[in-house]
Amino acid sequence: MSIDNICADAVAWRHDLHRHPELAFKEERTSGFVAAKLESFGLDVTRGLAGTGVVGTLRRGASPRAIALRADMDALAIEETNTFAHRSTRQGLMHACGHDGHTAMLLAAARALALDSQFDGAVHFIFQPAEENEGGGEVMIREGLFERFPVDAVYGMHNAPWIPQGVFAIRTGPIMAAFDRFWIEIEGVGAHGALPHTGVDPIPIAAQIVMALQTLVSRRTNPLEAAVVSVTQIHAGDSLNVIPDKVRLAGGVRTFLPEAQTTIETGVRTIAQNIAAAHGANAQLKYERGYPATINESRAVAAALNAARAVVGDANVIADTSPMMASEDFAFMLRAKRGSYMFIGAGGGANTCMVHNPGYDFNDAILPLGVRYWIALVRQELAPGSP
Ligand SMILES: [Zn+2]
Ligand SMILES: [Zn+2]
Repeated sequence: MSIDNICADAVAWRHDLHRHPELAFKEERTSGFVAAKLESFGLDVTRGLAGTGVVGTLRRGASPRAIALRADMDALAIEETNTFAHRSTRQGLMHACGHDGHTAMLLAAARALALDSQFDGAVHFIFQPAEENEGGGEVMIREGLFERFPVDAVYGMHNAPWIPQGVFAIRTGPIMAAFDRFWIEIEGVGAHGALPHTGVDPIPIAAQIVMALQTLVSRRTNPLEAAVVSVTQIHAGDSLNVIPDKVRLAGGVRTFLPEAQTTIETGVRTIAQNIAAAHGANAQLKYERGYPATINESRAVAAALNAARAVVGDANVIADTSPMMASEDFAFMLRAKRGSYMFIGAGGGANTCMVHNPGYDFNDAILPLGVRYWIALVRQELAPGSP
């Protein structure tokens, strides 16, 4: 069966997955679909990691070498506005990030490689749940993913509507940011709006904290390193003539380097507590580290670049693309194993829809490129006869 025929089938699978989106850790149908396909291709299939996670294993020859390729399966809580035949059949849910396409591409690569003898070693095809927000990849690792499936390197790929189709883009080092969240509660003393001196007004304190937090980026972080601090919520008061006793702030922090992350975490705490204290109020802070930065390892980037060049040629491969301030659960896999995360260009011109938009759809024109990239990577990294 030719790769072209396999890709034609994979577009149909992609449309089927698009019609049946499922949220984080609830990818029951998707997981069943993936497992059944992998079994039909003759792979060893392991289910149950992180609940709906699936790992398909393909072995050739006697080499102890092993690599992992990873796709994500979850959809988003977005009401789809598309009207085409394969639109979501589930109200309020849609594949708005292209994980349907990622799953179909990796399945197609598994099918093609199951018919292929041009490699020597093991390939573990990881289909993870809950990439969006819930850290399904981290859960798979905690449940023993890389102990059960030891690998030399792990590779990920995401469609990128901001990069033209036919182009692959990657970089060594951080490619996606870490995402931390914080909640600050400023406790003052409520009062009549006409008698501020009888209370401790938390509102000007909150305003000072919001402004001071920006100095963590402009004054405390190396200007050559990117960081974002965004206060995205302010909640206080419900009367015109009452000074409230509390203000609640919440927001997010994006960084690429651990040093900047630590500087900002410490800074959010000291700024909130000390500004509040300076005015006779109290600040309680909750700070949570979410996804770490996604950091590509140089040898795995070189491998990814070679594979991409074999598919689309030198001129269509970007080796030093700009990193994104968004974050990615694949970061946990790259913290556990060396590897790399590739952007596959999906942009089709001025009207290209971004991911997480209700009008988004995975670009089927790039599906064969993604499949060929995976195949090239396996043939190259597990080439027969090489050490
Ligand atoms: Zn997404
Ligand atoms: Zn995504």
